[in-house]
Amino acid sequence: MYSLDEIKKDLKEKLSDYRYNHSLNVAEVSRELANIYGVNEEKAYLAGMVHDIAKEFSDEENKYYIKKYNLPDFGDEFRKIIHSYVGSVYLKEKYNIDDEICKAVRVHTTASTDMSKLDKIVFVADKIEPGKDYLGIEEERVVARKDLNKALLLCLENNYKKLISKGKTMYPSSLKVLKQLKKKHN
Ligand code: FE
Ligand code: FE
Repeated sequence: MYSLDEIKKDLKEKLSDYRYNHSLNVAEVSRELANIYGVNEEKAYLAGMVHDIAKEFSDEENKYYIKKYNLPDFGDEFRKIIHSYVGSVYLKEKYNIDDEICKAVRVHTTASTDMSKLDKIVFVADKIEPGKDYLGIEEERVVARKDLNKALLLCLENNYKKLISKGKTMYPSSLKVLKQLKKKHN
């Protein structure tokens, strides 16, 4: 088992100040959204706090977990995604964190077609936390407090636009989620 203090200490050691603060912000927003949408607030707080725990792992650390747990290869274009998968197995291995939280960590970068409320909360909180600023974020913040599914769709849409404007492509399974949500909401 784990204590919150122990995990916070681990996070502080592993992350830059910027990302540590981002993590605390995501934890706070996750708790707020959990309260609105009837999800366990402590669980949401913890999930938000640890979602980026592997974001600054070294290549060696990543390789170790990829090999040990046979994690997918995302190639160079989508290599950012790996921190979600590595974070998830790290949290399980080191702290035996419960599966719902590990899953929220695993899908926080890509989204997925079978997201729980907790998954959606962490995904959205990661985007709208107070330290962030980008085109469309104000609307995302408002919608996040009114309709979680719409907020998820909006975040994915804005992310898609941002990627396209930079000449990049969206990770195929994220695009699938976006299309599925669009169908539902239009
Ligand atoms: Fe992340
Ligand atoms: Fe994050």
